[in-house]
Amino acid sequence: MDERKIIVLVGDGMADRAVPELGFKTPLQVASVPNLDGLASEGSCGLMDPVRPGVRPGSDTAHLSILGYDPFEVYPGRGPLEALGAGVDVRPGDVAFRCNFATVERRDGELVVVDRRAGRINEDEGTRELARAVNESVDLPVDFEFREAVGHRAVLVLRGEGLSPEVSDVDPKETGVPLKEARPLSDDPAAARTAELLNEFVLKAHEVLDGHPVNEERRREGKPPANAVLPRGAGSLKDVDPFEDVHGMSGAVVAGSSLIKGIGRMLGMEVPEHEEVTGRKDSNVAVKAELALEALDRYDLVLVNYNAIDEAGHDGDAREKVRFIERFDRELVGGIVREVDPEETVVFVTADHSTPVSVGDHTADPVPVILWTFDARRDRVTRYDEVSVSTGCLGRFEGLRLMEILKDAAGRQEKFGA
Ligand code: ZN
Ligand code: ZN
Repeated sequence: MDERKIIVLVGDGMADRAVPELGFKTPLQVASVPNLDGLASEGSCGLMDPVRPGVRPGSDTAHLSILGYDPFEVYPGRGPLEALGAGVDVRPGDVAFRCNFATVERRDGELVVVDRRAGRINEDEGTRELARAVNESVDLPVDFEFREAVGHRAVLVLRGEGLSPEVSDVDPKETGVPLKEARPLSDDPAAARTAELLNEFVLKAHEVLDGHPVNEERRREGKPPANAVLPRGAGSLKDVDPFEDVHGMSGAVVAGSSLIKGIGRMLGMEVPEHEEVTGRKDSNVAVKAELALEALDRYDLVLVNYNAIDEAGHDGDAREKVRFIERFDRELVGGIVREVDPEETVVFVTADHSTPVSVGDHTADPVPVILWTFDARRDRVTRYDEVSVSTGCLGRFEGLRLMEILKDAAGRQEKFGA
């Protein structure tokens, strides 16, 4: 049997529930998606529980599951994934945090958070210079790397012996209150030491940032200074076998979102970068499709994530969600499917979870899927949406089974028995 390539197209948070303003239809049910409908007509459809029925997945745990890794075993928390996604080389034993640049004021001797996002400062407003200043000027009795990420975000990695991820957040997650002091969450002396180091880092970073020229300039312009760093979500990498060792095929992840890029890097997959692929609503989808096709030349499996749909879901904006779904269909699905040969390729379309606009967050509702390749069983489904696919011949299955199903369709699965 000839081995086929596999491409997995993920519309992030694409699945939904009945939306009153759409006549109790889902955004997928009202969107015009001719490419997806074409794949549904010529392929096998069904529903997938990204993690398992009733579990509300994060994008990270969902992607781990559909890449064949049990997230209950290998999920390291968001900190290390964001740090990997931002390009920091996270190693076993390191403790990584997600951070915000924030604005604080000194009141009665305490640092009080007045803006958790420092006026939504971004990469074009000097976060790189601020991060560099922190890296160069903060002196800690342990190695660390602090780096800017997308928008007002940043990552911090503490490195050395005797550290523990069991520490609480500094970010109070609200304004008008003081920074929280990090505390150990276990009796392990490493946790106490890590909490102490983290608190020291936060105070010293504030001293460096408060007088930085970037912030002097922001004050002159009437903008809130990015004069504090709020770490949260401590985590350390687990021992994880690389994707190629687990599945016997090489893999790449094409994504703008640093969380999804971090997943790819954690699994040892190739993660191509392009400055116009941002993981935000302004991401260049045509460039993403090109990156995916290039990767498909070189790798056995390519996963492509399109994040803007999920953002519209979090914003509760049904109309915008419909528009991003149509863009996904036209520019990404259309752009890729036109170029691949169904005799040599298996195309799988899915969402990583539902992000219903009525909820504004992820839910456990199963997601619609299509498996398309020249000899895929053709069921009666001719429309790609949550309800139409439910009569398809893939039935309903768990995300952790997906890689086995795709390998089988691609002629890459070992036979079990004689
Ligand atoms: Zn997601
Ligand atoms: Zn989301």
